[in-house]
Amino acid sequence: MTDTLVFYSGPDPFQPWRDALSPLLGDRVRIERADAVTDPDTVRYALVWMPPEGFFARFPNLELVINLGAGVDRLVARSDLPDVPITRLSDPQMGRMMAGYVLFSVLRHARDIPHFEAAQARREWAYRHPRAASEVTVAVLGLGELGAMAAAEIARMGYDTHGWATRPRDLPGVTVHCGDQALAGLLARADITVCMLPLTPATRRRLGTEAFGAMKPGAAFVNVSRGEVVDQDALVEALRSGHLSGATLDVFDGEPLSPDHPLWTLPGVLITPHLASVALPKSAAPQIADNILAIQSGAQVGQQVSRLRGY
Ligand code: NDP
Repeated sequence: MTDTLVFYSGPDPFQPWRDALSPLLGDRVRIERADAVTDPDTVRYALVWMPPEGFFARFPNLELVINLGAGVDRLVARSDLPDVPITRLSDPQMGRMMAGYVLFSVLRHARDIPHFEAAQARREWAYRHPRAASEVTVAVLGLGELGAMAAAEIARMGYDTHGWATRPRDLPGVTVHCGDQALAGLLARADITVCMLPLTPATRRRLGTEAFGAMKPGAAFVNVSRGEVVDQDALVEALRSGHLSGATLDVFDGEPLSPDHPLWTLPGVLITPHLASVALPKSAAPQIADNILAIQSGAQVGQQVSRLRGY
């Protein structure tokens, strides 16, 4: 009997994923969209992005759940998740796309672009002398697959680059700080703070009044991870009071951001609709296929996430 890989995603089209995976899986695995599954008992693998409640109950023989993205917060928080390995996408192209967005955000603030955009709107030649990259301190909160790649890119540009994680690690060009007690000091020295933390019970609303208050006056804030890591009202207050000079925000507590939200019109704030990085079928397919073939041959799967830690 041929195994089936079931696919479910709201935003991602099925065909490119099937086209990318089919040649790698051959006739060993049938690939079907969730609403077209012919025999649910043959479904052993699920490639999913935010499937509806009750989704997994249809497939009693699941052996692997593959999250169609890097952030697993929505998946691991579910109560109906089967007791099988959960993997995330781990794709260098996705990492590069994220690192590009983060570098753009860091340059935006480091090169005072919001100041020039505001001046241009007033037709004003508002010279502001640029700072050398080495004089600008950037803190990257979260040094995971995407975070570490972004931090490396920022360091490559010559910024004074720091990172924050739970565990120490060696990242060339990046000074790594660990643990809760290190956060306030790091925020106080950073000109730009980039949030790349996964959303977990420990990080939910971790960046609130206290964290924004600890940031250097005039600092900028970038969030590309999850909106719920931030207390959004505290962020609005920090921007409104002028304590923060600006922000580049790709993720929000409540998406899409409602049209009357104050963040849309605060000075220095750039809003993008959650697209800093996306799952790319061609480059992610080999990792997915390898894990399915590993299950078939009884080998260990890679890129597993810990339900306990939540990432
Ligand atoms: P990983 O899961 O690989 O790494 C998470 C990092 O955060 C690790 O370095 C971890 O520390 C650190 N961390 C976790 N909890 C804490 C804590 N309580 N205190 C301090 N550090 C902590 O994440 P990625 O880098 O791959 O991705 C980051 C996030 O980006 C994803 O979780 C997702 O939410 C988001 N994302 C956003 C996208 C977008 O388009 N906007 C696209 C893709 C992802 P340690 O290393 O010690 O374990």
